[in-house]
Amino acid sequence: MDRARDVGLIEAAFRIANERTARWEERHADGRTELYLCECAEQPCRKRIELTREQYEEVRTDPRHFVVLPGHVIADLETVVGSFDGYEMIEKPSALLQLLVETDPRSATSGPEADAARALAHEIDPNLA
Ligand SMILES: [Zn+2]
Repeated sequence: MDRARDVGLIEAAFRIANERTARWEERHADGRTELYLCECAEQPCRKRIELTREQYEEVRTDPRHFVVLPGHVIADLETVVGSFDGYEMIEKPSALLQLLVETDPRSATSGPEADAARALAHEIDPNLA
């Protein structure tokens, strides 16, 4: 379970970093794409995925879902639930649901897992609050 948690926390940290990109509303005019970070746990990945705001929002509708580059999937810990041009949507196991919800920047919850994910996100992007 520890490895699953560690991987989940890394991916949650990239999700937090990506939320910052998503909040730049003015940059999303006319269905243009933005560069988001691959949310995989392969370190250091830091590769970028081109998504429209709509594509990004589709991933964010479920706290178990993350966006990764094709092939950046940890087969024993996550499942591909959508394959698209240039990216895949993965789903984390329900066993991690509490961690995934707690670290979701769109949920109002807080706790030790959320703190750990925010600390990791700060390492990814030092400009994060
Ligand atoms: Zn990756």
